[in-house]
Amino acid sequence: MAGAVSKAEVDRLVKELRRVAWNLWWTWDYEAQELFRDLSPRCWQNLYHNAVAVLREVSDYELRVRLQDPELAARARRVVDSFDAYMRETATWASTNAPALLTRPVAYFCAEVGFHETLPIAAGGLGVLAGDHARSASDLGLGFVGVSLFYREGYFQQAIDANNWQTEYYNVLNPAALPVQPVLDATGEPIVCTVELGMGKARVHAWRVDVGRAQVYLLDADRPENEQLYRDLTLHVYGGDSTTRVMQELLLGVGGVRLLRALGIKPAVFHLNEGHTAFVALELLREKLVEGLSFDDAVRAVRAQCVFTTHTPVEAGHDRFSAELLEYAMHRYCAEWKLPFEKILELGRVEPQNRVEPFCMTVLALRLAGAANAVSELHGRVSRRMWHRLWPDKPVEHVPIGHITNGVHTVGWMKGAVAKFWRRKLLEWYSKLGTNVPGDASTQERVAQTEWKQLIHTPAFWERLADPEFVSDEELWAFRYHLRRELIEFARRRLLRQQHVHTPGDYIRFDALLNPDALTIGFARRFATYKRAPLVFHQLENIVKLAHDKKRPIQFIFAGKAHPRDHDGKRFIQYIIHLSKYSPLQGHLVFIENYDVHVARQMVSGCDVWLNTPRRPLEACGTSGMKAAISGCLNLSILDGWWREAYDGTNGFAIGQDTHVESVEEQDRIDAENLYRVLTEEVIPCFYDRDEHGIPRKWIQKMRRAFVTIVPRFSTWRMVQDYTRKYYLTK
Ligand SMILES: *Cc1c(COP(=O)(O)O)cnc(C)c1O
Repeated sequence: MAGAVSKAEVDRLVKELRRVAWNLWWTWDYEAQELFRDLSPRCWQNLYHNAVAVLREVSDYELRVRLQDPELAARARRVVDSFDAYMRETATWASTNAPALLTRPVAYFCAEVGFHETLPIAAGGLGVLAGDHARSASDLGLGFVGVSLFYREGYFQQAIDANNWQTEYYNVLNPAALPVQPVLDATGEPIVCTVELGMGKARVHAWRVDVGRAQVYLLDADRPENEQLYRDLTLHVYGGDSTTRVMQELLLGVGGVRLLRALGIKPAVFHLNEGHTAFVALELLREKLVEGLSFDDAVRAVRAQCVFTTHTPVEAGHDRFSAELLEYAMHRYCAEWKLPFEKILELGRVEPQNRVEPFCMTVLALRLAGAANAVSELHGRVSRRMWHRLWPDKPVEHVPIGHITNGVHTVGWMKGAVAKFWRRKLLEWYSKLGTNVPGDASTQERVAQTEWKQLIHTPAFWERLADPEFVSDEELWAFRYHLRRELIEFARRRLLRQQHVHTPGDYIRFDALLNPDALTIGFARRFATYKRAPLVFHQLENIVKLAHDKKRPIQFIFAGKAHPRDHDGKRFIQYIIHLSKYSPLQGHLVFIENYDVHVARQMVSGCDVWLNTPRRPLEACGTSGMKAAISGCLNLSILDGWWREAYDGTNGFAIGQDTHVESVEEQDRIDAENLYRVLTEEVIPCFYDRDEHGIPRKWIQKMRRAFVTIVPRFSTWRMVQDYTRKYYLTK
């Protein structure tokens, strides 16, 4: 009978949908997301877009019955088949460019990792970068295993109290309802590793996250045989005091290497992402010493295996521990393995013999990794100066710290409407490529389902965006209007929920917030004070006038979390929320609470302008502006980090020059003035300069330039290739 779905087919679909739900591949496949959403829209929304939770909600029986709907079955088949095709693909980039890394993987360590709102175990940009790195490693077919910690209460949830002060609360994560699986041995028992910590021993088991073809292991110390002190080490991301920190880092580094050994994984390279992971190198050193190598030979052998990436020029971002604390934390580890504690201590000091100098994780990593890099060109320069004292006999430009500029996982940062738009354009481009491309129906189908996500990285495709024949100004403007509308409605929904007032009048009131026609400026990131969130309000009266301009209004959407102990950051949040409620900016400025990757995805796509005002040169790279470019949101930023490499005068807006002064007050004043000037002289006039058809031609020209110059270049697709060629393959 036409249309009927056979029992065998239903069996297959049910089984395969489970595999899909437990593989984060669906976080970069919008058809899979829409399928899970439609299985239970309410569960999808309430449990925050979690495919595993949906499959727990929808019984097997319901699923089987519903798959008798030929339309739903056809959608499920498409998802399952494209997942299968992805998982089976062997002709990957790595198969020709890095065959050595197919069998011996890269082991990538990071203290936080952010993939999706479902698994909120990242604090910010570092973790999100790690997640994007893993997703692109999978896309490129690289052998890759990530290692991090399973924080069972994750990163904090932000709530704002009656005084507009940030407060923190935590949700307990339930592994059974998450896309994670216990790591078991052949007998079905958890694999447990032991780490000597303090006076005792901590035991960790692990959860595996499947990220396409890559795996990420999350260590978890919440085991019944552990003392509570140890169990709570994996409670919160960067939780607690220095004692917690040093112990978390020992768990990650030492426990992580031991887990890989227990799994029989033999990495070709260990990538230490940020100083938190430097104990990986120490554990490798211990292994070599136990094998009988001399200390110097062991150091040489470890250096040959390790790559280290530093992520911040902010002093406080580099963990430092006193010798007493380190001795307390590592006493047993050193005693058990007869390790020379004093020599280890020396490895973490710039001046090894300086007994008052604390032990620095970054110094340890720089000493024990054979290669090191920063995350943008300027950050490379700043880092070489910062760590020059480790190589006093080299001129500063020869300090062995290179750079690879960060990127983002392009497809993962496209929300549904954006992915649909780019897929359609990609298919149009592909079908016109010419006679050397097979144009038969099955090829077209394959490209439409899976291959578009790789072809989208082709620079030649983005170059087509310069051509109005390929995509008209009208089409691009319609795209932007759609995305702004989606964001404003998202903001209204969130604001209504945030304010806890639900009379019928509130719905009307909140639906009048923000203007769908106004130039919308977004700012969202961690509220570290060097990022200067309130800078744009330094000239408050003038900004109020701009917001109230009848013909050319501007409006602002802010979001972000301050570190729980960062009171200055919390004051910034308080000030901005206060402005949003009690100043004439009310209705033209909103603060969306509880920033995370979902809020980020909405904001970077719907805003017209992405504002970034770090105090140069403290923004090592920055990535949210790269996400914005994918959706045609233009950057307005200080020339720091990635933006000073990307900005070319045509593809967005620069605040100030490629320089900075020493005085912080002076720099803040200069930057605030420049920001206001660019806003009033360049950004606003350009946005509102409409022709007789109502189209802002010059604005759209800038969008085109941003697509061509930014999207293919500032991606993890490019970044992971750079790491592979420059560091992984040379180890
Ligand atoms: C991308 C991202 C960041 C990093 O933003 P920056 O502007 O680089 O600081 C932080 N948090 C979340 C949730 C992100 O998605």
